[in-house]
Amino acid sequence: MSEKKDGLTRRDFIKTVGLGGLAATGMDSAMAISASAQSVEKTASMPRRKLGKTGVELSILTLGGMFDTVNNQLLIRQAFNWGVNCFDTAEAYGNGLSEEGFGRFFAKNPEARKEIFLITKLKASTPDRLSEGLDKCLKRLNTDYVDLFFIHGIGDLKEIDLPMRDWAARMKSSGKMKFFGFSCHSNMEDCLLASSKTDWVDVAMLAFNFRLMHTPKMKDAVNACSDAGIGLIAMKTQGGGPVKAESEAEAALIGKLMERGFNDKQAKLKAVWEDPKIASICSQMPNLYILSANVAAAKDLTRLSGSELRHLENFACQTRASYCAGCGNICAEALGGVIPVNDVLRCLMYYREYGERDLARELFAAFPGEVRDRICETDYTIAERTCPQGLNIAKLMKDASRLLG
Ligand code: SF4
Repeated sequence: MSEKKDGLTRRDFIKTVGLGGLAATGMDSAMAISASAQSVEKTASMPRRKLGKTGVELSILTLGGMFDTVNNQLLIRQAFNWGVNCFDTAEAYGNGLSEEGFGRFFAKNPEARKEIFLITKLKASTPDRLSEGLDKCLKRLNTDYVDLFFIHGIGDLKEIDLPMRDWAARMKSSGKMKFFGFSCHSNMEDCLLASSKTDWVDVAMLAFNFRLMHTPKMKDAVNACSDAGIGLIAMKTQGGGPVKAESEAEAALIGKLMERGFNDKQAKLKAVWEDPKIASICSQMPNLYILSANVAAAKDLTRLSGSELRHLENFACQTRASYCAGCGNICAEALGGVIPVNDVLRCLMYYREYGERDLARELFAAFPGEVRDRICETDYTIAERTCPQGLNIAKLMKDASRLLG
């Protein structure tokens, strides 16, 4: 694996990624961010990759909009200035507020709209409701079209039925969307494999990270989509789960990577970029600290060594029981399809790993009352036996009910 890089100088990169170290030596966070921002500013352009058959060249980093975009206009501007040319949002993020924030940005920066590849999403619904929903999205986003529209959060490609596909074709003809596809956090491999056999999916956004990328089924699914020309955007790339990974294993991982000047979060991004079939990583970057660290990682062309990739894989293996792999069909079948364990654990992940407590509670509240009532009463023994990650599902479901209910 090559060590060659022509982006950031080594010194710039270490300066940027070593923020934790700077903070530890007494430099306050504002100074650290300023140092980081200056070093990113001076560096090479953001790498781009082709998004499947769309032919669009995306920055390898996408600005995920699950944060307060309304009050972080300068952050959006900074991402744009640093070469991020893809923004991702959804009606569900802050009940439209995320879209509104991007809309404000486009109102003030109309020239940016032409350069940004804009993505939004709506939950599967009837064509009439989707039409109504899309018009509202466009209004909030202050634009006439989105570059890419996703049906949000599917767990089975059959959720996108023929009327929805016809609707998408009409919206493309009308000019309100250029490309169509889906996002998925559940049963990603099955959704991808099924979509590779169709001709109507342009792009898919999937949960994909150092924990998921090595399984034969995931590799087959990604290859099949790539062969079919379906563009792929990765999300949930940090591999955070509903429980914190054991601190000893995490400390060992961080120590190993810091020797090379990466922090663990940057290394996890780099592991995903190792797969050239992934066009871009959609990352939530709610502050300048995270944005500058991610941009630095994207612009720095140093690749992870084989031993570092193996170290990440070992870490994934050691901390397997802290991560829900999204294979919701397995536990759903074990429980007779009554409790959506995968979706509940995702809410818990938003609460614990992302610190998005309101969002986690909001998503949890959207489950039918009957489902929420049964969470603590259900016997998860069979589901735990079949869970490939070995998760303590009963305990996690009780935690979710206590923290989110
Ligand atoms: S709880 Fe286990 S079986 Fe269910 S989705 Fe998560 S990893 Fe898969």
